Amino acid sequence: MNFEENLKKYAKLIVEIGVNIQKDQELMIRCPIEGAPFARELTQYAYEAGAKRVYIEYNDEELTRMTYSYASNETLSEYPSWIANGYNELAERGAAFISISAGNPDILKDVSPDKIAVFQKAAGKALETYKRYISNSDVTWCVVSIPTLDWSKKLFPHVDAEEGVRLLWEKIFEVTRIYEEDPVRAWQEHTEALAIKCEVLNNKKIQRLKYNAPGTDLTVELPKDHIWLGGGEYSTKGTYFVANMPTEEIFTMPYKYGVEGMLTSTKPLNYGGNLIEDFTLHFKKGKIVKCTAKKGEEMLKKLIETDEGACYLGEVAIVPHSSPVSASQTIFFNTLFDENASCHFAIGSSYPINIKDGATMDKETLESKGANTSIIHQDFMVGCKEMTIEATTESAETFYLIKDGEWAF
Ligand code: ZN
Ligand code: ZN
Repeated sequence: MNFEENLKKYAKLIVEIGVNIQKDQELMIRCPIEGAPFARELTQYAYEAGAKRVYIEYNDEELTRMTYSYASNETLSEYPSWIANGYNELAERGAAFISISAGNPDILKDVSPDKIAVFQKAAGKALETYKRYISNSDVTWCVVSIPTLDWSKKLFPHVDAEEGVRLLWEKIFEVTRIYEEDPVRAWQEHTEALAIKCEVLNNKKIQRLKYNAPGTDLTVELPKDHIWLGGGEYSTKGTYFVANMPTEEIFTMPYKYGVEGMLTSTKPLNYGGNLIEDFTLHFKKGKIVKCTAKKGEEMLKKLIETDEGACYLGEVAIVPHSSPVSASQTIFFNTLFDENASCHFAIGSSYPINIKDGATMDKETLESKGANTSIIHQDFMVGCKEMTIEATTESAETFYLIKDGEWAF
């Protein structure tokens, strides 16, 4: 199978299974400028599938870096409302959204964490309405990736640039099941398998999870009526879509005030072009009361200071240690991949869809049910092959979810 054919299979998969584009639907694609040829493939398939109109927003990380260097903190704190309004309008009209996540993990390493935090906070606030459409599944959306030159160099520093890009494409095709004879079918089977796992756990009515691993000793309570999701999900308009490709996780929300103990990260976290590595978080009544990191500690502290909800957890996700992404034995320095190689949590907002009737609840109601709300949602990885997760149900039954890093139920 040659590269061009695989590329077409990948684009088709994203349009058909990822956002599952519907007739006369609009589509917004966000893409790094290097990815223009791939954006054209996506656009072609979207129109063939009946899309009404496809819009593209290219981003250029060199320009982003320049903006950070030259713009004042005051300028960075003013997120352009015309951009936010555009997203709100599209979401309101039921558009689909494809985001291509493919940044150089070190692009902002010389920018002060303060500036990054100011911008991230402004963007989070300005895009709050749009993000709620996303986290509610009111629209269909999908995050995927393609190689870029600088990112490939970081992953494969010892080969020439072109070879690095080729190697990264291979990894991406591998973990998104493009090498399967029929990737669409493979994805249907895969999402079904994850849905079965969710169904089992939803029937169990888990009250609390106990995590154990080197550097991790943590108890996480789950709120009443929490819902496990994984693979794909239905939008509130009834379209089945897959929000991340790859995806290997099943996830739910923690009870905001029910996290106790400590955890240690097991993979680097790329936070907006800045790496945070080897960090430990300590929790009391759900709140992060202490954090240390061997690298990027200042950025981590800024991240959890973003708003009130940023120092609480919003997502609990289970991934077996032998997932295809993990089996690829690559640290991608990109959360889309790394979170699917490892059990993880997210700092910040929970997904309203992870609690019964959550999509129709306002912020206050969600909080009253024990769901965390924040303008940020940042996944980070804690899983490893030594991890055990033991569950206790409402009826005091105990069982292992994960033992020695693998599924145990
Ligand atoms: Zn996740
Ligand atoms: Zn997440």
